[in-house]
Amino acid sequence: MKFHVMTLFPSLIENVLGESIIGRAQKDGYIALSTYNIRDFSQDKHRKTDDTPFGGGKGMVMTCQPVFDCFDRVKESFAEGSRVKTIYMSPKGRIFNHGIAKELSEYDELVFICGHYEGIDQRVIDELVDDEISIGDYVVTGGEIPACIVIDAVSRLKEGVLADKECHEDESIASGILEYPHYTKPRDFRGLTVPEVLLSGDHKKIAEWRLRQAVDITEKRRPELLLLRPDIKESLEKIDRKRKRKEEK
Ligand code: SAM
Repeated sequence: MKFHVMTLFPSLIENVLGESIIGRAQKDGYIALSTYNIRDFSQDKHRKTDDTPFGGGKGMVMTCQPVFDCFDRVKESFAEGSRVKTIYMSPKGRIFNHGIAKELSEYDELVFICGHYEGIDQRVIDELVDDEISIGDYVVTGGEIPACIVIDAVSRLKEGVLADKECHEDESIASGILEYPHYTKPRDFRGLTVPEVLLSGDHKKIAEWRLRQAVDITEKRRPELLLLRPDIKESLEKIDRKRKRKEEK
């Protein structure tokens, strides 16, 4: 899968995505990332990429010319027949979640346009953009960090990006509910101990404890998720009924 990012600050993207698991995935060829500096395409003698808004108002708006020309360059690199989507990162977009990450992971190439200042000329959005995505109901200074978040979340769904041991399927949200708590060595840290069941070696008991913890935390923090997955609570109730019957015998 290939990601193209059109931005005024390419090093921001390269630095964030060049590290850790996503950096390794690029080196190993599971994903590819290209950044394009929109300023390099400006025909203005001072390489300007923004101007004052028509109709007045505060702030600057990114102009059409460098963005359209930059997009032409991006298009030249598309592989023949590849499924492509162009996304403008925007607080006005649909709010990003696991379902959207899965949907985007089906494309071969994703193009991200990162806004800055007050945003971008609407004609860019009308002509070049297929989808507008927001990372949440707040405003950040530019589309770069939002684009990195989307690229990271989509990449980890692609085969090979996560090692087997880092499998994403049983993680929070992807599994339908929030995840159970984790503990690692030592067993006792400053008197803070690990739940006994995790040291028992009884895999059935551990699985049941984890399920119960996951349901509890989801009930407290995101009860609406459990309404969408009644089967999860039902399986816990089934375990409880079985135990009760056993105890009664
Ligand atoms: N004036 C714009 C508005 O009110 O909708 C906000 C502009 S914001 C300061 C600058 C850029 O940051 C935006 O063009 C967008 O690319 C990016 N951005 C800001 N908040 C975002 C969010 N929640 N999700 C995605 N991108 C965001």
